Amino acid sequence: MNQTKYVYDLNEGDASLKPLLGGKGANLAEMNRIGVPVPDAFTVTTQACVDTMNNNSEWPEGLREQVEAGLARLEERTGKTLGSVENPLLVSIRSGAVFSMPGMMDTILNLGISDETVGQVAKLADGNERFAWDCYRRFVQMYGEVVEGIEPHVFEDALTEAKEAKGVDNDTDLDAEDLKALTQKFKDLANEALGGHWTTDPKEQLMRAINAVFKSWLNPRAEVYRKSQGISRNLGTAVNVQQMVFGNRGETSATGVCFSRNPSTGEKELYGEFLTNAQGEDVVAGIRTPRDLAEMEAELPEAFHELLATMDKLELHNKDMQDMEFTIEDRKLYMLQTRNGKRTAAAAVKTAVDMVSEGLITKEEALLRINPSDLDALLHDAIDPHETATAIVKGLPASPGAAVGTLSFTADDAAERGKAGEKVILVRYETTPDDIHGVMVAQGVLTAHGGMTSHAAVVARGMGITCVAGAPGIKIDPKAETVTIGGQEYGKGDTLTLNGSTGEVFSGALALVPPKLDENFQQVGEWADAVRRLGVRANAENFEDASKARELGAEGIGLARTEHMFMAADRLPAVRKMILAENEEQRAAALAEILPMQQADFEGIFTAMKGLPVTVRLLDPPLHEFLPNIVDQSVLVKELELTGASEDVLAKERETLAQVKRLHEQNPMLGTRGCRLAMLYPSIPDMQARAIVKAALAVQEREGETVGVEIMIPLVAIAKELEVQRDIVVKAVEEELAAAGKSLDYTVGTMIEIPRAALTANEIAEHADFFSFGTNDLTQTGIGISRDDAEAGFLGHYVEDEVIAKNPFESIDQEGVGQLVQIGVEKGRSTKAELKTGVCGEHGGDPDSIEFFHKVGLNYVSCSPFRVPIARLAAARATL
Ligand code: ADP
Ligand code: MG
Ligand code: MG
Repeated sequence: MNQTKYVYDLNEGDASLKPLLGGKGANLAEMNRIGVPVPDAFTVTTQACVDTMNNNSEWPEGLREQVEAGLARLEERTGKTLGSVENPLLVSIRSGAVFSMPGMMDTILNLGISDETVGQVAKLADGNERFAWDCYRRFVQMYGEVVEGIEPHVFEDALTEAKEAKGVDNDTDLDAEDLKALTQKFKDLANEALGGHWTTDPKEQLMRAINAVFKSWLNPRAEVYRKSQGISRNLGTAVNVQQMVFGNRGETSATGVCFSRNPSTGEKELYGEFLTNAQGEDVVAGIRTPRDLAEMEAELPEAFHELLATMDKLELHNKDMQDMEFTIEDRKLYMLQTRNGKRTAAAAVKTAVDMVSEGLITKEEALLRINPSDLDALLHDAIDPHETATAIVKGLPASPGAAVGTLSFTADDAAERGKAGEKVILVRYETTPDDIHGVMVAQGVLTAHGGMTSHAAVVARGMGITCVAGAPGIKIDPKAETVTIGGQEYGKGDTLTLNGSTGEVFSGALALVPPKLDENFQQVGEWADAVRRLGVRANAENFEDASKARELGAEGIGLARTEHMFMAADRLPAVRKMILAENEEQRAAALAEILPMQQADFEGIFTAMKGLPVTVRLLDPPLHEFLPNIVDQSVLVKELELTGASEDVLAKERETLAQVKRLHEQNPMLGTRGCRLAMLYPSIPDMQARAIVKAALAVQEREGETVGVEIMIPLVAIAKELEVQRDIVVKAVEEELAAAGKSLDYTVGTMIEIPRAALTANEIAEHADFFSFGTNDLTQTGIGISRDDAEAGFLGHYVEDEVIAKNPFESIDQEGVGQLVQIGVEKGRSTKAELKTGVCGEHGGDPDSIEFFHKVGLNYVSCSPFRVPIARLAAARATL
């Protein structure tokens, strides 16, 4: 019968066998194959681990025999034998998953040392008794903890006692006799803990150690890590059994870690740490302070230079930055591990670009090396990495970057102080559209409530303002203007620092470092542009944001929301007049007041984007959003009544209250908004269309060119709505053009954000020049969940419990809502083959969603200005 091959000798493997041998095993084999010195070894496959997991933790048939045979071959190759008194073989048992899970599973060193062999181990190490007993006591400790599950403190306490008894601080101050006594003590403690069942046979220890590594695949910290990294539990871990080499044989021996480039900057320079007379994890464990690798040259020059040459060789071979472990035994270098190094975003960009110019990788490979989401970190201020403060609270990383400012508790106060040049942090329970003027000028926003797609988060991201949302347990007292965080009260004059990339909040002002949009960053963007098919636009509604978007590579504006223009403090009175108008005449007068202000906004955007297309969405939100909150207004009226305010004032506020009540809706998000509002008040789209045309013509006059004007009707569900609205818009535009005696390229399209619109897209397309999928609303209406409420409610649990893989507001629900997009595109194009389609909203900046939109065949995505570089890269990667 043909048995599964569970054991591979070192020289049987290579890098391509990673799924079977794990990353560590495959890379050890590959290093050996290309002539890098690696201690001899064999690897038990991931399949053996999986088969054991699926077999009630019993080893599958033949595994034990194969391990024994592998050991016999290793013994033959090394000329040493496990447990032999004359020439004992010592091995390490090392876990090695397919995807690197640093420190998540267990390793056992020095297996094979015993009462019988310890003397010979010393003799073979030039009579170094101390070394042999150091190995032995480490083995008892590691084996006891990892394989037998003895509490670590049992050994730690005994070690501390031994040092105290001798009056020394360091392990290295213990001599051979001390370590011998300590080893005996360790064994006694272990035997005691196991009720006399301490295993002493090395071969049995080996089998148990391999089994313990299998089991460590399922330990809780490994489970947590896998979950966070999306690594499947079904992969299992391989186990490497490797001959020991000793960095603890005295001052001509050492152990260390190094990188082929600096992983935090990407600079090609020496980067690493080492310790002489040390073993295994001493370097990372922090028991002794490791030394800078550069210092090794003076002490172990030959090994040092061989290490440098090996680093180059491994980087060249793997065509990526390497993260390596090495050990020097009596001046001879051995490599124990190599893998592609984890790196910061800045280092990822720099190494990718450098490696292309060094001819190591292609441009396409370079694009695949950089995680689009990581670019975020480069686009904003960041907290100086040298800062060591600990956070006072951690909320959601709602909008990246870092911000320092004094606290402000109302939007008005923030707006006033911000305009005066003060750096403020706006602290609110949650923000509403009413707060926009304060958010706009703040350095950062901190909220106690709301999720990643809460109002504050969306607005802040759009504007590139740092935001930490939903900070747990913080108490805001808006009246007293204080916030209590972790028992400490902070008031108006106090300063906080926000890290919107991690959600952390710090007391006081931390030092910040500016964004890194250097030439490497630009280079990556250019390479991405050369391969992507999907266009990338930005969502922006003023000159500054539009300019920023263009600077970051946007090819147009995919969404200019006109309501943001209505919210500005100087507009609100006129907007309210318009809403509260009692007749068409009053409304027309109010609209006439708003028109020039809208026109000025459009001129700003059109100037910034001249030569490129701009999609302007007509008014979308329900009118009540422009009015005072119903509760606040009721309270105000009550207060005025009680304080005996003048009849005039009282009458005015009562009238406002009546209007607020009249416009109040139970379900405003499904209420009178978007084109529904425009159907009731046609003078609003009429005014907006005129403002757009006037602005375009003015810019054309002034700049010699203008933008491609795209007027977009929101919230269409029924083809008739679009037909009517289109007529209103076209009539207004044509009248303005005729009056000015000018012509203008413009199109009229619609948002697809209601399932019915997607399903009847063939009918809707008859009246549309383009579609823009509003996937925020399409997600709300398609799944039937309220964005504003769900995140705080069940959605968080759903993600936590893996009912759904991801928050559908952050990354599009491809099977469900995605299907609506696909149907919309197909049906729309069945009517108009060349129909231009795009997406605006949060998903337009999400790499996974972008890949999906590429596949569905959209023409472009539109996202907030600061996500444009991410979208460009993600769109490029979608084609590779
Ligand atoms: P991890 O995956 O946690 O890094 P490793 O299997 O790499 O675990 O081992 C932990 C430490 O033990 C490393 O520092 C490594 O250098 C050391 N080590 C492992 N095997 C050997 C060996 N055969 N000889 C000497 N040191 C070893
Ligand atoms: Mg390691
Ligand atoms: Mg919408």
